[in-house]
Order: sequence, then structure tokens, then C-alpha cells
Amino acid sequence: MRTLSGVGSTPLAGVGAARWYRPGADLTLPDRPDPTAVDADAELSRFAAARDEARAEIRAARDRAAERVGEEEAAVFDAHEQFLDDPELVGDIEDAIGEGAPAEHAVHDRFAAAIEQFEGLDGQMAERADDLRDVRDRLLSVLLDADSLGDLGDLPVGTVLLAERLTPSDTAELDPDAVAGIATVTGGRTAHAAIIARSLSIPAVVGVGEPLREVSDGADLLVDGEAGRIVVDPDAETRAAAAGDAASAVPERVATADGRPIEVAANVGSEAELAPAADRGADGIGLFRTEFLFLDREAPPTEDEQYETVTDALSAFPDDRVVVRTLDVGGDKRVPYLDLPSETNPFLGRRGIRLSLDEHRDLFETQLRALLRAAASEGGDGLAVMFPLVSRVEEVEAAAAAVESVAADLAAEGVDHAVPELGAMIETPAAALLADALAERLDFLSIGTNDLTQYVMAADRENDGVAAYGDPLHPAVLRAIDRTVSAAAGTDAWVGMCGEMAGDPTLTELLVGLGLDELSMSAVTVPAVKERVREVDSAEARDLADEALACETRAEVRELLNA
Ligand code: PEP
Ligand code: MG
Repeated sequence: MRTLSGVGSTPLAGVGAARWYRPGADLTLPDRPDPTAVDADAELSRFAAARDEARAEIRAARDRAAERVGEEEAAVFDAHEQFLDDPELVGDIEDAIGEGAPAEHAVHDRFAAAIEQFEGLDGQMAERADDLRDVRDRLLSVLLDADSLGDLGDLPVGTVLLAERLTPSDTAELDPDAVAGIATVTGGRTAHAAIIARSLSIPAVVGVGEPLREVSDGADLLVDGEAGRIVVDPDAETRAAAAGDAASAVPERVATADGRPIEVAANVGSEAELAPAADRGADGIGLFRTEFLFLDREAPPTEDEQYETVTDALSAFPDDRVVVRTLDVGGDKRVPYLDLPSETNPFLGRRGIRLSLDEHRDLFETQLRALLRAAASEGGDGLAVMFPLVSRVEEVEAAAAAVESVAADLAAEGVDHAVPELGAMIETPAAALLADALAERLDFLSIGTNDLTQYVMAADRENDGVAAYGDPLHPAVLRAIDRTVSAAAGTDAWVGMCGEMAGDPTLTELLVGLGLDELSMSAVTVPAVKERVREVDSAEARDLADEALACETRAEVRELLNA
């Protein structure tokens, strides 16, 4: 038995047989033959057949992703199919075959040119290069009869998938009934792929580092996403200990042992995640990441599409609050069809509300129209709307003014609408320092510890090299949270937390002690956090929070929590 440690990402455990996923690894081209020896007609037929097979694979992957994760995430595969049918690219490949290249060489060379072209464009277009690589590898794997992509959605039951890293679209393809776990060499728990794995309830440990490479295909593995470890050849006792303690859903609302109600809600990014969140007993939605509705498609969703999605969320939680966050793109969330600027430091650039109030005001207003209409639908009084990446008081004033102006337009058009509760994400040090002024102007604040930690600690949330800084238990982050809650205490605004920190049951007592009213998390952790809330005594929790706030280092905070 050997243990490798990493970062627990989905706090569930699974046991199975290791299987390495190495996209593109077996796609070595054979030597290039003499062009005169190539039968162009036969190669053209091979190319046509490979396109058909790749198309079938892409469509199957699309259907699986739509069913398991949602239409929005599945749309990436539509873009792949479009590349497969791109007349210029297909024409170039056929020309190369006509000039004596075997199909695989023609595909390889012409895709290389197209990929290079995209990489030469600005930041967002450059990301299309990844899609092109994906499509190229599908075609090459068919032509070379290699086992590389195509089968991610069809892995044998009991597979533990090992990879250098996974993309969100790789992860969206996985069948949670077949994949017993995921372990990756790189990556962090707040990356998109990790968030999708959590929403699929697949046990996952990320950022295991170099030692993972030494694990061979077929090895017997335990992925313990709770403890953040991979155990090679686990003994019976270790398996049983890891598997035994998944909490079952607590459908009712919960309060601390001394009766303080705490709302335990779910974070979602698509309609497909609503029912599983309700099944796990979430008290509503504390964060609907609407940008997932905009990613991986060719144009923004229409006002009506957005209205449908929001009213579906309200219907899934008829008696609960549903907090919808307005479009939060920029940073690591690139949308190819939005002309986002290419920036040296995208996380410090045009992101979130900054784009909504300026160059993407049109998208913001369309989204607000959908939201205000939904607020007047059945159950619409549960709707709350929040703005991402706020750093200035003027931003919430401008956002609230936009809400009023959209309401006036809808009234003039005679369209049913209502103004929902409005709130701001507290994700920047500026917002935490201004929390009093923000709380006075808003109905609620929701602390996004993923970004708050990265900005307070100056540590890129995607960069493994600064993972030790990216921990919300640093006293500086705890003090920013405390400052936010205390600043709102003198106002009518409620304060929640929707960063990944909220979903860690080992931190529930601390967060209750810090005074949060609502905790919102990946649905998979809702049952364990609810169970934990019931055991907490508010006064003891407050003492614990005070002690944590007095700590000067992360190690002291961890020691305190472990004691
Ligand atoms: C956060 O920053 O904590 C948050 C919830 O938003 P996201 O993870 O989508 O940036
Ligand atoms: Mg954020």
C-alpha cells in the first residue's frame, strides 16, 4: 500500500483500476511515402470515412455531455463538428491528398497550419486552437486506428482516470456511473474541470504532482477526495474506512444545535445540475454561474432562453431562494465570440461587472430583462440577482440604475416584470474593505472565496506553484471575511458565502462562528455540511472564529481547527 497526496476536489471516495488518459499520445505518424506511390482516391475515401466516424463520435459525446452535464456544456461539441465540416480546411486537406500526401499526413499538416493561425490571433481566438487540436486528434486516432480520444464517455465501470490535466469538455464527457475516480498531475480545486467533476459527483484528487506518473495502467487505486489522497493497492480496512461515511441527503432546513438557522444552498452552472442539487437537499441555489450558459457556443443565449433557464431554476426550488449571478466572463473564462481584450493580466483586467457596465452593456441589459421577467413569474419572489467582481461603490450604483432602467423599459412595453433582491459578490479586497457601503445599498453580499483568496494573497487560483498561498485559511483572508460580515451586521443585508470554502464541512463551525447566514456549495457537499451545522453550538463557534482571527499564520489556524 502506497499513499500519494494531492488536493481533494470532490469529497467522495472511489476504488477502481487505473487508466491513463493521454490525449494525442499514440498518434505518431508513419514515415511519409513517396507521393507517386500514394493512391489519392483511396486516401480521399479513407479521409471521408474518418470524418464520418469522427462526426459520429462527436455527436455521441455531445449527447452524453448534454444528458450528464447540460446543453450549455455540450455545445462545445457543436463547435467541433463545425471544424470537421469547415470547407476551407476540408478543401485544403483534400488538395494535399491530391498532391500525394496520405490522409493522416494531410490532416496533420493542414490542421497544423490552421492551429498556428489561431494561435497567432488574440487571446480568445487562440483558445479555438485547443478545439482544433481536439478535432485533429479525433481524425488521426481514426486514421491511425489509435486508442486516444473517442472513448472517454464509454470507459469500463470501475475506471480510475489518470491524466496530466483534464479540460472541462473532457470532464463533461465522463459517465459518473463508470468512472470511480479522477486523479490529475496538475490542477487546483477551483478550476472549471474540478467544478464539473464535483457537479457529476465523481471522486477527484487534483494536483498530485510527479509521483502520479509512476502509477501504471491497471493498478488498483483508491481515490479519496475527502482526504486528498490516492492509495495504491489499498488494503480492505483502508477501502472500508474511505467508503463508509458518505452523508445522506437532509431534505429539511437546518439550524445549529442552539437553534440558529443556516441556509445550505447549492452552486450550479446549468439546468442539468438543478435536480441533483434538489435531491441532495439543497435549500435553494446560492450561486447560478450564468457564464456557463454563454461558454462553448457560437452566440450568446437569447433573452427568452435565459428566461427559460431562470424560471426552470425557480420551479426546481419553488419555496427557496435562487441567486443568479450576472455574466462573469474574463479572467480564465474566455468566450470566443465576445471580443474580449487580450491582456497581460486577465485576472486583473476586464472581468465580471466591469464588462457588463461597459463594452458588454448590451448583454447585461438582455440578461437583466430576462431576470426581471422571471422575477414576475410563478415563484419569482425567490429570485435574487448578484453582480460579480465588484470593487467600487459606483459599480453597484450603476448596476442598480441599469436594473431600474430595464424595469422602466419593460413597464413601457407592458411586459410583466418585478425587481428582485440585488446583491454583490465580495471577491476583491476592495469590496471587503467597502462592505459597509455596499451592504447599505444592497439586499445581500455573497463572499466568493475563490477569487477573494487569489486577490488577498496575490496568488493565481490556477497556478499550482503558489498553491500554498491560495488557501482561504490564511488569517488575511479570514479577516477579510470577518470584516465583510461585521460591516453588514449594522444593515439589513444578509451575508452568504459561495466560494469553495463554504462546502468544506471541516470549516462549517468556523464559518458559522464568523457569522455567515448562508453557505452555498457544490451540491455533493450539501448533506455533510447540513449534518455538521446541526452539531455546531453558535457561542462555541464564535469563540473558535475569534481565536482563528487572532492567529497570525495559516499553520496556526490549521492547528486550531485540528485541535
Ligand atoms: C468565487 O470567486 O469564489 C466564486 C464563487 O466565483 P467563481 O469561482 O465562479 O469565480
Ligand atoms: Mg469569482
